[in-house]
Amino acid sequence: MSVRALRVYYGTLRGTVRAVDGVSLDIGAGEVLGLVGESGCGKSTLGRGILGLLPEGAASDGEVLYNGQNLVTMSDKELRGLRGPELGLIFQEPMTRLNPLMRIEEHFAETLKQHEPSLDNREVRRRSLETLGRMGIPPTRFRQYPHEFSGGMRQRIMIALALVLRPKLLIADEPTTSLDVIVEAQILRILADLREDFGTALLLITHNLGIVAEACDRVAVMYAGQIVEEGSARQVFSEPAHPYTRELLRSTISLDTTKLHSIPGAPPNLIAPPSGCRFHPRCPDAMHVCVTKAPIEQALDGSRRVLCWLHGPAGEVPDDGWSQLERQQIAVAEEA
Ligand code: SF4
Repeated sequence: MSVRALRVYYGTLRGTVRAVDGVSLDIGAGEVLGLVGESGCGKSTLGRGILGLLPEGAASDGEVLYNGQNLVTMSDKELRGLRGPELGLIFQEPMTRLNPLMRIEEHFAETLKQHEPSLDNREVRRRSLETLGRMGIPPTRFRQYPHEFSGGMRQRIMIALALVLRPKLLIADEPTTSLDVIVEAQILRILADLREDFGTALLLITHNLGIVAEACDRVAVMYAGQIVEEGSARQVFSEPAHPYTRELLRSTISLDTTKLHSIPGAPPNLIAPPSGCRFHPRCPDAMHVCVTKAPIEQALDGSRRVLCWLHGPAGEVPDDGWSQLERQQIAVAEEA
């Protein structure tokens, strides 16, 4: 899948929210791409925008090319045909997505019959139980209702529902949020097995950098509706090129952490994002140019790219880095 210059805007009474603003990225067959960033940076909107699952009041343009077709210009009917058998989504909150009045077997029957109407009941049952079994849910639970399961089991059922159609690309939006670490590890193992068994590509949306380090081939870092850095997980974690990535990594907690670090300030209001580089009010390396001119994306070594004036283009960055005091003054002015 190739996403090119994708924009997703929401119309609100207070103005237009530019939730995704010119995002480009690629996901190859069988690849796991992690999408990270703070809450409110546009990660979930990007995931939904790729699948055309946007709420009313949202508008999108750009290209989402899947097997040569642009999903952005497809009709709802054409998109529905692709969702499920080709493109799957795992939502954040399993309890709000499972119908409390339907047994688990009915959820599977509805999903399978909608996309593969020729399947008979026996085959529907066989496929459902096989997929649930991969998730560690025994057949004895097949006729139970969602409220009879724990949060971790409901999340595994949601994953099984997304997988029963064997999609080529799965978008998992915070699939392990609010689960304990043991269930989280189980789910990550299941997602890793998927890639091996079916060659499923995965876009893993999370704010947990530990999960990305463990499960992803590449990582894209999102800030204020834009991808600010992308590269192999190993490169990005060992030598972050963008100050935002660096600050995010400094903010993670490990067993060695003795002092908590946080990025000062908060992600910007996407109705009126800051001028120039959107990270400049919070950036410890901000320069004069960062306030007035939006950075131009630069390709670094290998397949890495970064959106920051610190990395060029050569000759564009004036040698007038600002002092800490000046940066504080800019932050105060921005706030005002
Ligand atoms: Fe910081 Fe400037 Fe780079 Fe933005 S462009 S991240 S403000 S150094």
